[in-house]
Amino acid sequence: FATLFIVPTPIGNLDDISARAIEVLNSVDWIAAEDTRHSARLLQHFSIPTRTLSLHDHNEDKRTAMLCHRLKDGESVALISDAGTPLISDPGFILVRKCREEGIPVIALPGPCAAITALSASGLPTDRFIFEGFLPVKAQAKDNLLSQLKGRTCTSVFYEAPRRIVSTVSDIARVLGNRHIVIAKEISKTFETYVSGTADDVMAYLHADAAHQKGEFVVMISPAQVDLTAIPPEAMALLERLCEHMP
Ligand code: SAM
Repeated sequence: FATLFIVPTPIGNLDDISARAIEVLNSVDWIAAEDTRHSARLLQHFSIPTRTLSLHDHNEDKRTAMLCHRLKDGESVALISDAGTPLISDPGFILVRKCREEGIPVIALPGPCAAITALSASGLPTDRFIFEGFLPVKAQAKDNLLSQLKGRTCTSVFYEAPRRIVSTVSDIARVLGNRHIVIAKEISKTFETYVSGTADDVMAYLHADAAHQKGEFVVMISPAQVDLTAIPPEAMALLERLCEHMP
């Protein structure tokens, strides 16, 4: 069997593509791209002549069958998305799962990912975090998810579209109150900006200039502060004893 390569591409600055990514994209038989026209610009920039075909949310089932056939016939494939790491809020999961099931080798190259890049520069705790992808669009589902974050003791990271950034930050202010949040905007691009403060501080930044609401955003919410001293010692001792019996 040939190999399926998962190849991250830049999220802004084209120089962030790796030498290995270029080498793999040049050497495979096929590049499966989320949007072939969008990726054509990237491939042209790096003079990569490899044939492309589309693999997106609406044809992934069909493409998976076809690509697995080709991989079994010895034709190698690189999967790319419009930007960043494929499968991270991007298509590819169905294909990779199938390849794993069928014993087709899968190799992922390390590379750009907006969530990880934003988190590493945010100043928020990085030892434990939860990546939520995009928040639900429907108001009730979004509120439910934000309520779940209230007591969460690790950093929460999610993606947000520019048309929803204002409503999302105001929802955070309403549901979570004065929690410390950070937004990372336009990472690796000309107007890269990190804004850190309460949701109200971030709202003030977004409203200060219409341009502040444009671009791509990663939103991060700090962990809930757990005041261990607020738990009475007897309750703490009981909790520890209970923990010993938990599976
Ligand atoms: N697979 C991509 C990755 O690895 O980051 C994410 C794809 S997802 C469809 C697109 C979202 O990622 C955007 O809506 C935004 O939230 C985030 N994003 C992508 N590029 C970004 C950038 N340069 N700066 C900030 N956020 C970015």
